[in-house]
Amino acid sequence: PDEFGAPDSPGTPDEGTEAAPPAPVLAVVGRPNVGKSTLVNRLLGRREAVVQDIPGVTRDRVAYDALWNGRRFTLVDTGGWEPDATGLQAAVAAQADLAMQTADAVLLVVDASVGATATDEAVARVLRRSDRPVLLAATKVDDDRLISDTAALWRLGLGEPHPVSGLHGRGSGDLLDAILEALPETPRDDFGATGTGPRRVALVGKPNVGKSSLLNRVSGELRSVVHDVAGTTVDPVDSLVELDGEVWRFVDTAGLRKRVQTASGMEYYASLRTRAAIEAAEVAVVLIDASEPIAEQDQRVISMVEEAGRALVLVFNKWDLVDEDRRHAMKRELERDLVRVQWAERVNVSALTGRAVAKIAPVLRTALASWDKRIPTGRLNGWLSDVIAATPPPVRGGKQPKVLFATQAQTRPPTFVLFSTGFLEAGYRRFLERRLREEFGFTGSPVRISVRVRE
Ligand code: GDP
Ligand code: GDP
Repeated sequence: PDEFGAPDSPGTPDEGTEAAPPAPVLAVVGRPNVGKSTLVNRLLGRREAVVQDIPGVTRDRVAYDALWNGRRFTLVDTGGWEPDATGLQAAVAAQADLAMQTADAVLLVVDASVGATATDEAVARVLRRSDRPVLLAATKVDDDRLISDTAALWRLGLGEPHPVSGLHGRGSGDLLDAILEALPETPRDDFGATGTGPRRVALVGKPNVGKSSLLNRVSGELRSVVHDVAGTTVDPVDSLVELDGEVWRFVDTAGLRKRVQTASGMEYYASLRTRAAIEAAEVAVVLIDASEPIAEQDQRVISMVEEAGRALVLVFNKWDLVDEDRRHAMKRELERDLVRVQWAERVNVSALTGRAVAKIAPVLRTALASWDKRIPTGRLNGWLSDVIAATPPPVRGGKQPKVLFATQAQTRPPTFVLFSTGFLEAGYRRFLERRLREEFGFTGSPVRISVRVRE
């Protein structure tokens, strides 16, 4: 296997997170000492030391980007999640369980020179329930004499055992072929590409901030509404608008165009309508009247966007009315009221004069790119082990929780799952989110992090 040994994300160093399409994940499980790490190194085609001798972070870095026959996948070595007090069998079963939850396929490694032990059988029982493909590698098959021992592993009920020697390399090419056959082209939970048709935008904000003025401005000035985009059926309440050379679908604009009366009792209805528009959209433009103090109602609309998990752009309108004093006051209001959405970009426009309206489209694109973004498992865990080595989670009840592994379970919005051996305090989770944003960006998109504790 000469062509092997891919560097992480070839040719896309730092902003590789945007470009690299998501790769499917293979998790490698098995008892300690069956030869998992040796096999992983062999499959990666490099002699990188998987075992890092740093106390506390030993083998936390468990995910690697692999390449075989032009296809990329992520190889997760679960060897680092090894036994705690619960006993070997339970620990390995839990490891297999976790692998099933997070990977697209699982590789069980059994030591052919020992044969299937009770623990191997227990793990096989767990894996037989998997709805993901499971492969069986019989390792330490250094020469032909051991081939017959391999056949005995059929009884694990996981299909054909693949004989390999991690040490010498024999059988590893065939195993890789089988792995690629088992792995899907794209990871599970991948919501697919952006889909077809224009991206959906909700234009929301409290009454009189200038929503209809802005909509008229963008659809009037920038080559009027396009009615006919191939492959899309547009709800009559939506508008197709061309902004910066791209067609966008502004959802539920019927009410904006008609200027609904704001009679009493209408406010509740308006808020329902706002919520529905946000739900129907991928990105929300929250319009705020820059000439007035930021209102509680503005904050409520922003919270709706966050809760719905949509990308967010803050557009401050009526900038033509903003003087020096107002600008200073606004700076303080931003710090006081909108720190929690610091990740959202702001654009200062005037629907009246057309000022900076052209800046909205690029900001929408940035927000949507963040919302769609997927961090490859290998990069994510590389980053995570560095952060945790530098700033470990605080000790709680005399025990230090160990963060084992992270995966981005979803995009739209980016949603991360951390597996840890103990409870992680809210402060530490916020710290991780801050660092995650520092490293990977996510400008314009909410990010969710959940922690699963593996006892
Ligand atoms: P892990 O705990 O499952 O990750 O196992 P390791 O990869 O650390 O291997 C455990 C021991 O088995 C080490 O001493 C390896 O050198 C040895 N080993 C691993 N693979 C092979 C193999 O293919 N053939 C032989 N003879 N020994 C192996
Ligand atoms: P909507 O209720 O959010 O749809 O707000 P409208 O678009 O109906 O605007 C409310 C009022 O604000 C109208 O009188 C507009 O003329 C005015 N307005 C909208 N945008 C601007 C702006 O950029 N500058 C100024 N000075 N007035 C604006």
